[in-house]
Amino acid sequence: MCRYRRFLWAAALPLALLVIGCGAGGRNSGASTSAAAVEADAAPPPIAPADAAPPATQTGGFDGAKAYSYVVKLVSFGPHPPDTPAIREVQSYIRSQLKGFGCHVDVDDFHAQAPVGTLAMENIVAKIPGTGPGIILLMTHYDTLRLPGFVGAEDSGSSTGLMLEMASLLCKESKNRNAVWIAFLDGEEDQADFQTAAQAQTTWNNDDTTFGSRELAARMDLSGELKNIKAVILADMIGQKDLQLEEDTNSTPWLRELVWKVADRLGYSNVFSTRQNTVTDDHQPFLERGVPALDVIDLNGYIQEGYWHTTEDTLDKLSPRNIAIVGQVILASVGELQGKFRR
Ligand SMILES: [Zn+2]
Repeated sequence: MCRYRRFLWAAALPLALLVIGCGAGGRNSGASTSAAAVEADAAPPPIAPADAAPPATQTGGFDGAKAYSYVVKLVSFGPHPPDTPAIREVQSYIRSQLKGFGCHVDVDDFHAQAPVGTLAMENIVAKIPGTGPGIILLMTHYDTLRLPGFVGAEDSGSSTGLMLEMASLLCKESKNRNAVWIAFLDGEEDQADFQTAAQAQTTWNNDDTTFGSRELAARMDLSGELKNIKAVILADMIGQKDLQLEEDTNSTPWLRELVWKVADRLGYSNVFSTRQNTVTDDHQPFLERGVPALDVIDLNGYIQEGYWHTTEDTLDKLSPRNIAIVGQVILASVGELQGKFRR
C-alpha cells in the first residue's frame, strides 16, 4: 500500500514547509531502558509560574495540572518503544486509568511487520457511547521513539496525558448525540533499526510508521464503523513551551478552521498560529479513506529548539499551561462538533 519515501529534513530553514512525520531511532536495549527509568524516577523539574496550568475552572473544566501529572507518570516508565517491557507497563497504566475513570475500554492486540522484526502492538480505545451512530474520534500515540535514552515527554507524553484527562472528563457523560472515542495508539514512530538521533530526524518510511492508526482505520473500515466517523482530531507534540501549533495543510480544511475558530474565540490565537506546515502523521490513514481529520501539532517549533527526536525531549521542556490550553480547545471543539452533527 505504501511506498518507501525518504523526506529531506528542512529544519534549519525557518518557516520551511516540512513533509515529515515523527521518525525513529536505534533499537533500544534493556540496559538503557532501565538506566533511563532510574533517571526518570527523580522528582519532576520545578514549573515556572508562567508555565503553570490555570485552575480547571479557567480552562473549561479541563485540568492541565492533572494532565501534566499523567505525563510525569508516563515519562517515569522510561523509554517505551513498541514490544518492550516498559511499553507493557505503560499499556497497563493507560488501561487501568481509563477503567478508573469509568470508561468502556476496547483493547486491540495486533502484530506489525517491521524492519526490526515482528512487533506486538496494542491500541487502547476508550468509547463514550452516543445516542446516534456518529463517532467523533480523538487520537494520540503513546509509544516513544526507538532511540536509547529517549523518554518522549513531548513526543508522545504530552498528548497522551492530555487524552487521559480528556477521557476522565468525557467518560462521565452519557447524553451526547455522537459517540466519542479516544484512541491511544501504538507504533506511530518509525520501527527501523536506527542508532542516532540524526538518523531518526531524517528518515520517515511510511511502511514502518503509524502502525496503530493504520490498524484502527482498517479495522473500522472492515466493521463498517469508519463511515460513521464525523471527524478525527489527533494531538501530537502539544505541550512544549512557546507552543505555536501549525496549520497542517494535509488536514481537512473545514475541521482545521472549526478548531482554530474555537481557539480564537477562547483567546488562544497566539498558540493556534497561522504558520503552515505539511505533516504526515496518524491522521493520514483516515484522510486516505476520505474521513475528515486534523493533526494538532507543533513539529517545526520543537525541531528548531533542537529537542525533537533527541534525548533532550524531557519534562523541563513542557508547559502544563499549554497542555491545558490545547485540552480546553479540543474539549470545546468536541462540543462544537456535537452541535454540528446533531442530525
Ligand atoms: Zn516522534
